[in-house]
Formats: sequence, structure tokens, C-alpha cells
Amino acid sequence: MIIDIHAHLMKYEHYLTPQAKAFAEQMAKTFGVTPEEYFGDADKIIKDMNEGGVDIAVVHGVDFERTQGLYQSPEDLANEVKKYPDRLIGFWAPDPFRTTPYEAAQRLEYAVKELGMKGCGEFGPPYCHFYANDERVFPIYEKCIELDIPILIHNNWTPEPTVPLKYAWPVWLDDVAMRFPKLKIILAHFGGPWVTEAAYMAMKHKNMYVDFAGWGPNMVAPTSLYTTLLKFRSLMGTSERILGVGTDYPLCKFKSCVDVIKSFPEIAEKRGLPKLSDKEITGILGDNAAKLLKLQ
Ligand SMILES: [Zn+2]
Repeated sequence: MIIDIHAHLMKYEHYLTPQAKAFAEQMAKTFGVTPEEYFGDADKIIKDMNEGGVDIAVVHGVDFERTQGLYQSPEDLANEVKKYPDRLIGFWAPDPFRTTPYEAAQRLEYAVKELGMKGCGEFGPPYCHFYANDERVFPIYEKCIELDIPILIHNNWTPEPTVPLKYAWPVWLDDVAMRFPKLKIILAHFGGPWVTEAAYMAMKHKNMYVDFAGWGPNMVAPTSLYTTLLKFRSLMGTSERILGVGTDYPLCKFKSCVDVIKSFPEIAEKRGLPKLSDKEITGILGDNAAKLLKLQ
């Protein structure tokens, strides 16, 4: 089973404010995506998943309105997911400071219990201007544990000038993982520019998973991706917590991201690098995510 753990469903109506439009333009430009490729609904993502051979995509709703003018309601996301319940899984994360963090945790509970969301994501400390280890947001983590759902946290650079990098440092998650050992944390994007820090976080904390969303071949050379992945695997002592297909759709294409993972044996051979077993490759392509999502 091939699973994309980190995709988005960007509908044009989420981007009506000038600030949100500028956000979309900047993202699309950076990743070399056209407006036609950037926006779309459930039908479009399914068509693209079919082309790329992806069975299931986890689509993450974003609540960045307070700081970035960008909002996707959990109801809207749930309506799209319902059109293809066997192919799409919804995650939704609140901005803890749109209301009080306690009320945000209640909204998360509603999204999970009433709308069928299966996780909290994409939780965006840098997008919403707070540190992941800020004790005021702990009600969100407590709610994830209570609901027994994973949380995917953005840790990466972003081209938006309004998103402070200081909030994206993966080491902030050290406190969170220590304080909440039962919280299933997905450290997104391999920690962006702080890959080494992220790898050590994932080594230390067995409740931490990593994805490499956005590291598609349009952004990072496949060999460079592979050597980074080997670094995580070596430090973590396993590849079972590496959640492989991560397109950050629509920013990278399903097919190219799947093909890169499938080409790892060839890259290892050509470059004389350590090899991954077939089981590890199928794990990274989807089996690891399936276990986390309780699909197997
Ligand atoms: Zn992200």
C-alpha cells in the first residue's frame, strides 16, 4: 500500500484575502507549480494520485488565518474527504491562539469525533508564530493523547517572509517529546535546514516519526535525499519511523516522489551507498504510515 502522509487540498476559496493570495503565489513560485496545479478539490487530487500510483493520501487542513490569512475549515476538509473515504484521510489542526488553546483543543476534538479527522495536522508553530514547547499550547498535545491521534508538526524553512524561522527549529520538540512520551509526533520535512538536529531528535525519542514532505525531485536531488534518509535510519537504528511518501501536494508530484523512493536501490548501487531492504522500501512507501494510522 502506498500512502502519502503529508498532502494538502488547496481550494481556491481558501485564498481570497490578499495575504493568502501572496502566500499561494510565493509557494507556487518556489516549488515551480502553476496556479492550475496548485488549486483543486478532491476529484483533482484523486486523479493525480491515480497517475502517481498512490493509494491513500493524508490531507492536512490549515488554520493560519490569524497570521497568514489562510484558513481551511474542518467541515470543508471533511466534505472533500467524504467524497473518497477509501482514498483520503483528513488531519486538521487548530491555531491554538485564534481562541484560547483550551478552546482550540475542543475544536480539535470536534473535528475528530464529529467530522472523522484521524490526526492533528498540519500543526504550524512557525506559521502561527509560537514555539512548539510553549506550555500554553500543551492542551493540544494532551487532547491528541486523549483522542489517541498523531500530530504532524511543521519544522522547516518556508519561502513566506511572514513566517519566522525561529519557530521551526526541531529542537523545540525535544521538550514536547520528553513531557509527552505517549504523544505520537510526526516531525515534518526532515526538520528542514536543521536535518542533523531533527535526526538526533528522532534518535532520542521513540514516539517521534519523521516525514520528508517537500523533498521532491523538483527541490532536492534524489541522491541527496537518499543520503539524508540514511542518516536518519542510522541514528534511529530503524527505518520503521520514517514515513516516506510526502509530497506536500500540490508542491511536489505524487509520481515523482514515489518513483524516487522506488529508485533507492539503484541509487545505492550506483553510488556505493548502504542498501535498504525491500521490506524497508515498502515500509517507507506506506506500511510504516499504515501502522501509525492503524490501517493494518
Ligand atoms: Zn509543512
